Amino acid sequence: MTKPVYQRVLLKISGEALSGGKGSGLDFEMIGNVCDVIKECLDMGVQVGLVVGGGNFWRGAKNSGGKMERTRADHMGMLATVMNCLAVADVCEQKGIPVRVQTAIEMRAVAEPYIRSRAIRHLEKGRVVIFGAGTGNPYFSTDTAAVLRAAEIGADVILLAKNVDGVYSADPVKDPNAVKYDTISYDDVLAQHLMVMDSTATSLSMDNHIPVLLFALKDPRNIIRALCGEKVGTIVGE
Ligand code: UDP
Repeated sequence: MTKPVYQRVLLKISGEALSGGKGSGLDFEMIGNVCDVIKECLDMGVQVGLVVGGGNFWRGAKNSGGKMERTRADHMGMLATVMNCLAVADVCEQKGIPVRVQTAIEMRAVAEPYIRSRAIRHLEKGRVVIFGAGTGNPYFSTDTAAVLRAAEIGADVILLAKNVDGVYSADPVKDPNAVKYDTISYDDVLAQHLMVMDSTATSLSMDNHIPVLLFALKDPRNIIRALCGEKVGTIVGE
């Protein structure tokens, strides 16, 4: 077995990825495949924190279309992430993977509240910790939540699993001349307004020197490849 190059990782999976490319709802085959790979990560001795998005159910600003007060619409988005957390946790348990869900907004009947020291204890005991409800604040994204939790738990890297296979100079769907970067600096991502993740998430990872590895979740084994230092996707770093 190839040796992992990271000890503790923060994996971010968008809601759309959990829908298996359908855009909405949950694709349990996809979730099952992701959980199998997470189990492999644990078996390699890697500690895994997971942040899931909620875009397969609700995105505050987009889905409310200006017909709701933004904060309340974002609360709905954060609740959507918790639904995804529960689905992923359930599949983890079915596969015998020890898992805990912690939410940034307290809902004790459903999950543990987010407590950093407890999250770290779970990780050290080999449990997957799924962080729900984003940052707990409106006007933020789950990408930013991923960077925040990565900083708090001292993750070596953020594995950003998306529906694109890397960072491109332009939108590869619209521009046939778009080139994919193997590596790119935070500064260039910000200066060129590249849509890797939102600028809040990019600047938070830059300020805290946490590398972000962006790759396609379409093949969940990319997670293992990324862990073992193989070249997949794009690394955003110093
Ligand atoms: N959200 C929020 N604060 C956070 C994280 C998320 O208000 O810290 C809300 C926001 O409405 C967002 C929705 O939750 O649109 C779903 O999150 P996101 O769009 O990041 O999900 P993804 O695109 O990764 O599936």
